[in-house]
Amino acid sequence: MQTRKDGNVQGIDVSRYQGKIDWLQVKANKREFVFIKATEGQTYTDPNLVANVKGALSAGLLVGTYHFLRATSAAAAKAEAVHYAKSLEEIGGAKALQLPPVMDYENNPDGISKAQINIVAKAFLTELERLTGIKPIIYTGNSFAANFDTSLSGYDLWIARYSNTRVPDDQPAWKTWTIWQYSDSGKVPGIAGNVDLNEFNGSLSDLKKRYGREKDMSNPFEGYRLTSPFGMRKHPVSGINKFHRGVDLVVSPADGPIYAFVAGEVIHAKLGVSGSGFGNYGVTVAIKDDKGHLHVYAHLSAAGVKVGQQVKRGQLIGKQGSTGISSGAHLHYEVRKAYTPQFGYTATEAGVVEPTQYLINYYGQTPVKEDKPVTQERDINVVSPWAAETWAEVTANGYYDGTRPGAMITREESGIVTNRLRKNILKLIAGTNGDIKSIDERLKMIELDSK
Ligand SMILES: [Zn+2]
Repeated sequence: MQTRKDGNVQGIDVSRYQGKIDWLQVKANKREFVFIKATEGQTYTDPNLVANVKGALSAGLLVGTYHFLRATSAAAAKAEAVHYAKSLEEIGGAKALQLPPVMDYENNPDGISKAQINIVAKAFLTELERLTGIKPIIYTGNSFAANFDTSLSGYDLWIARYSNTRVPDDQPAWKTWTIWQYSDSGKVPGIAGNVDLNEFNGSLSDLKKRYGREKDMSNPFEGYRLTSPFGMRKHPVSGINKFHRGVDLVVSPADGPIYAFVAGEVIHAKLGVSGSGFGNYGVTVAIKDDKGHLHVYAHLSAAGVKVGQQVKRGQLIGKQGSTGISSGAHLHYEVRKAYTPQFGYTATEAGVVEPTQYLINYYGQTPVKEDKPVTQERDINVVSPWAAETWAEVTANGYYDGTRPGAMITREESGIVTNRLRKNILKLIAGTNGDIKSIDERLKMIELDSK
């Protein structure tokens, strides 16, 4: 495999054995990323997990976690993935961190076969990705790596070989390392005793680009199935044609984790009651972003945050459910223009925006299909409440025939209306002095002048 390289970003990995860490000192000494021990087997959680994650994040390191695998069967591997994912919920879920979760698979005390090792690894990785929504990476040793077959080549390799000069060996599954743990006896200011040293195959910005959650907003709802778009639709429960104020998204399993699409302050996190602006919404988490828009996550089975709490983008905020009026487990997500009064609720669609476009704009990226502007779907035969009065007047006055109030107008249609208006005005003025022809000539001069 490749050698180490000047300019490659440096990091560490830690567990409870490093004790209390001065993270600001670690960061000041150019250790830009850290993998923190989270769990082991089906029940063990590192007692320093939460403190380490909080400390490292607040010092500005890029943070990931790892799980030490002990399973010898696919079923046990799945149970370990569940335990790992569950422990991560304590720190806001895997998506609250910048680096992916890690399967640390490095020994075989029970002597299972190579084939079985790959079955166990695959079971753990697949289940972990399903639970966290993030593709994990594999940590292993230089010798143990030879057990993994090419079906695992698609996972990034973090490999241990304690040498500055002897590079990790080429393996059936990998010819390059993504991260190299090149020492288990490093000294880093801020940490008492030895610590593992790691190098990423690239610069800090390469590392952010490879795993950063900030990268791609072309589909803000990646990982979800969009089952009902924003706009006019037949309501799935009532059957009535009605404006859908948000989007319906589905994750599996039915009580799967729901993460914040945008950072902000939690201003509602419980069952919505009638008249609150969240009636029929079931258990609802509402988060106010820095632009004063309110992000509404409805029909949850449980809220995982509290009012007043600041949440990060990607942080776990609750679990999918079907509380309130809902045709099945899904997330109804809507973005309101205001958060007060009644949590920004309006009877018409005037108070909401199209969520996909809002997120794309919010993160400052252009949509993939630039030539196709996102338009609000509406029923063209229904007049908007704000226009109803005027529409009734122009219809009564004969300028429009009263059909298709919401349709786009063509140039010929607007021409007919304008010309009718012009003729009527001429008649009106002529009625007072009797000479339509000369007034028409004078109006033509005025119209020519104003071109
Ligand atoms: Zn909905």
